[in-house]
Amino acid sequence: MAKDVANSRRFSNLGLPASSSVGKPGDALGPLLAPARTLRGIGPSLAATLARLVGAPDGAEPRCLDLLWHLPHGVVERRLQTHAAALVEGERVTLLVQVQQHQPGPPSRWAPRARAGPPYKVRCLTETGFLHLVFFRARVAYLRDLLPEGEERIVSGRLARFGAEWQIVHPELIAPLEQFARTGPLQSLYSLTHGLSQRRLGRCIAAAVTRLQPLPEWQDLVWLKRQRWPSFEGALRCLHEPQRAADVGVDSAARRRLAYDELLASQLALGLIRAREGGAAGRATAGDGRLRRPVLAALPFRLTAAQRRALLEIDGDLGRPERMLRLLQGDVGSGKTLVAALAMLAAVEVGAQAALMAPTEVLARQHHATLARLLAPAGLTPRLLTGRERGTGRARVLAALKRGASAIVVGTHALFQDDVRFADLALAVIDEQHRFGVHQRLELAAKGRASDLLVMTATPIPRTLVLALYGDMAVSELREKPPGRSPVRTRAMPLARLDEITAAVRRALERGEQLYWVCPTISADEDSGRAAAEARHAVLRRHFGEIVGLVHGRLPAAEKDRAMHDFARGRLRLLVATTVIEVGIDVPQAGVIVIEHAERFGLAQLHQLRGRVGRGVRASSCLLLYGEPLSPTARARLEVLRGTDDGFRIAEEDLRLRGPGEVLGTRQSGLPALRLADLAVHADLLAPARDDARSILGIDRGLDRPRGRALRYLLRLFERDGAIAYLGSG
Ligand code: ADP
Ligand code: MG
Repeated sequence: MAKDVANSRRFSNLGLPASSSVGKPGDALGPLLAPARTLRGIGPSLAATLARLVGAPDGAEPRCLDLLWHLPHGVVERRLQTHAAALVEGERVTLLVQVQQHQPGPPSRWAPRARAGPPYKVRCLTETGFLHLVFFRARVAYLRDLLPEGEERIVSGRLARFGAEWQIVHPELIAPLEQFARTGPLQSLYSLTHGLSQRRLGRCIAAAVTRLQPLPEWQDLVWLKRQRWPSFEGALRCLHEPQRAADVGVDSAARRRLAYDELLASQLALGLIRAREGGAAGRATAGDGRLRRPVLAALPFRLTAAQRRALLEIDGDLGRPERMLRLLQGDVGSGKTLVAALAMLAAVEVGAQAALMAPTEVLARQHHATLARLLAPAGLTPRLLTGRERGTGRARVLAALKRGASAIVVGTHALFQDDVRFADLALAVIDEQHRFGVHQRLELAAKGRASDLLVMTATPIPRTLVLALYGDMAVSELREKPPGRSPVRTRAMPLARLDEITAAVRRALERGEQLYWVCPTISADEDSGRAAAEARHAVLRRHFGEIVGLVHGRLPAAEKDRAMHDFARGRLRLLVATTVIEVGIDVPQAGVIVIEHAERFGLAQLHQLRGRVGRGVRASSCLLLYGEPLSPTARARLEVLRGTDDGFRIAEEDLRLRGPGEVLGTRQSGLPALRLADLAVHADLLAPARDDARSILGIDRGLDRPRGRALRYLLRLFERDGAIAYLGSG
């Protein structure tokens, strides 16, 4: 993430003419974008701690703005106790005290052998008597500054009794009366990190709040008024200095205003990039059908209605002189590959080239074999280019692509390499796009003159996320599956019943079935997955002997291929695997999949895995093994999977259960990290933000008018002036 952002800085500011005030001294954003270190009381080591908590745009120093964007998750009420009420042990109180005397602890040899050493006490006077503020590991100078003897302070915290003495150990709040009066009795509560107390963080953020000043309003005033939203500055103040508990809720006017700001910034940036790339850069590709006809005629089936519709949509895009950016979504087995192949033929029919890129070597080979079979009736032979094509073989492919002698190529990342040149690449198709970085999509498309781009995904992305990810990217969906598929029977069972499960596997093997057995990757560390798979493999081998194979990501490619090959040939009948089989492996006769620790997988991933079976006409089944105890969310997830086979519904449920960040994983998806908007709550603001962005750019493409000028501030605040450039394909 940090690296992406840093890289993106190389990009220009979306080609906007430089505005006179932006980035210069006297810039209205200067105080906000300045390092947090420039605030009173924040030194290098505190800044480093803060960076861990609030993040920083390029992994460097947190800025004042980053502190302001660390929004509270709740409030605590500190209503001043004015009456001489009886003090109650254990209660949280807020009192006005007069500081009387600092009392450094006794010499440590007298102190109990506490880790923290002797406490430092400050004796104070309240209306009802003495109160000691107690600090362990005190920083004396700091406390002397905070609690000058003879002065009055508001202190807040939990009351404790120590012998006859009333104490507050590590008060949560110590503030001069004026400051307390200004912020009111409510105090925002923030998430913390090791080495940072609520009080310390609160002070840092309060210091950052002093940097806020009115900025030109970039939102439409009528809209703002109708929503009853505060100004940007007002919204941040309202969250950090709340007047009511509701002010800090995720659905408060202040939160929604900021969420909308962020979504608008993102949609505007997408719109700007699209405007820059589209238009003149496009080409019209209208095939005459002469290659498609023989291919279609050779198919043993008819296209489904969904396939025909998707193809019509794609043809429409190809035929227009703008650049195509289309997402083709459909479950595993819904027939995307065929649609892509037919689209590629349109490019070849006009004498240009098409490329299909897959995320893995295995998939690329599989696609290559499929296309070779599909396209043979048209007399076409697709080329293959992966990391394993080397030497003269590779040179021959490169030469053919460069000369235009090869019309169609299938490959992996290897297609990105600098020496891969096309005579005339008209269409780039990218399979399983979310496995690629967004910039890679751009790089491939950049190899052609205004190449059209079709992105295929078998993990349907919920509409809300499509909009957030790609802005206005067009979407075709294959919701209908080709006829003749029998649904996969799905059951869930506790892993503890391993004996029963083993017996079921034995019966399946005796019936002549082939089975997958999937083990999870337990941590981010791939080796953990390998260990689990190896252990399971050893156990199953003891039960069933030589017919049990093993494949995981750490195996050398050749061994992986051999295992897959042996499984496809039926020499291996039970394949223990990590999630390497998730993507696209096609062994139609495999009818059973066992997924161990299913509760550790995401819904979409489980659905993908399940898609490995049920490819033939035979009944097939999926066995989800879970470890106990099962959390309610995990149980809900497994239920969803048992209840439906529709990837689109599963994706929506996944979004609901896990939230957008988890669903796609920001790292993989290229989803610009949203800092203030939460799509689980603010999704309703996406469409208005898109429409708003569209209309703004419609009348003020260069952002030169007054609102446009104000919007430039918005883009800079949310780092969308440069960072979003990677999302250019959207
Ligand atoms: P996807 O790429 O969406 O996972 P594929 O394109 O690999 O799906 O198609 C899965 C299988 O369905 C392939 O064997 C393909 O030949 C077959 N298929 C595709 N379209 C149809 C159709 N309209 N009718 C019947 N079978 C089809
Ligand atoms: Mg496929």
